[in-house]
Amino acid sequence: MSIDFLNLGRVNAPYEPAIRDAIDRVLRSGYYILGQETAAFEQEFAHYCGVRHCIGVANGLDALHLILRGYDIGAGDEVIVPANTFIATWLAVSLVGARIVPVEPDESTWNIDPQRIEEAITPRTRAIMPVHLYGAPAQMDAIREIAQRHRLCVIEDAAQAHGARYGGRRAGGLGDAAGFSFYPGKNLGALGDGGAITTNDDELAERLRKLRNYGSSIKYQHDVAGVNSRLDEIQSAVLRVKLQHLDADNARRAAVAQAYREALADTPVELMRVPGGTESVWHLFVVRTPERDALRDYLTAHGIGTQIHYPLPCHRQEAFAGQDWPALPVTERLQAQILSLPMAPYLSVDDVAQVAAQVKAFFG
Ligand SMILES: *Cc1c(COP(=O)(O)O)cnc(C)c1O
Repeated sequence: MSIDFLNLGRVNAPYEPAIRDAIDRVLRSGYYILGQETAAFEQEFAHYCGVRHCIGVANGLDALHLILRGYDIGAGDEVIVPANTFIATWLAVSLVGARIVPVEPDESTWNIDPQRIEEAITPRTRAIMPVHLYGAPAQMDAIREIAQRHRLCVIEDAAQAHGARYGGRRAGGLGDAAGFSFYPGKNLGALGDGGAITTNDDELAERLRKLRNYGSSIKYQHDVAGVNSRLDEIQSAVLRVKLQHLDADNARRAAVAQAYREALADTPVELMRVPGGTESVWHLFVVRTPERDALRDYLTAHGIGTQIHYPLPCHRQEAFAGQDWPALPVTERLQAQILSLPMAPYLSVDDVAQVAAQVKAFFG
């Protein structure tokens, strides 16, 4: 029996009837952009994250870059980002014309290292943009403390962390503002692109509501040169269905992760350390080994799908070539050794046992 890395049809199968009803409801309503479904989803997701505002946008990259625009961060400013992240975190900064300042991860948590953040701050630094990598919250107390001392914004990249908790509070409410993605493969995934911004900052929320909608809050009156980046009614209706089951889906992921951790305990693979007080939502289950490529080939040959998140670090991408990046040895070491095993709410304990058995067989 083979095990896919991820099968999105199986993720959504339990919700098919409810999703069909939701789509039918939108179809019949005659309202497809910025109607009741998006307004309702924004309210429900804000409540879920424990914040006052949620602003639906077209995707996660827009969520992040619009937050930067909302704070007037642009040319001449610097934004601190993790060196090991999906490229969207970096692109959000380059999109507004600010300078990307990459900071290395902690070697054990794989999340941005707060100590190194402090060393990267200059008089031009405006914001820190931590990523809750693979669903595990970054060290937000330390990050917030540094930000307060230097008067910086903290912008969470929460694209992999819907429902994750830090000190009892949800991702999305751990900084000044947060960007979420509802890309189909995320823990809360739409049937297409989608994104959202969460914040307790009333002024920022109002600016963002305009920015995402051509700079307008009154039809045909444009106060700023905004963009068209809206979460549509169909995606909102689908997300409302799936939000009701997010905690249950995340609990299933946690059970899969726990089963992996137990089964892999006596193998040489290293796992990310999840510090006390943080609750990961296991967007991915990533193992680390110097024999990554051989392990991946072995698992592929035995019918087990894997991925690498991400195979080429941002500073090595052609898109960011020719810039004077600092040496980032921790990031490069991680990138050469990480492997994502199958992770989804539908996986059974037997599936996990099968994957773990093949990992053990590889190491003999
Ligand atoms: C998916 C993702 C994004 C971007 O989301 P899109 O909706 O694909 O634009 C940003 N940051 C991280 C860490 C992500 O994983």
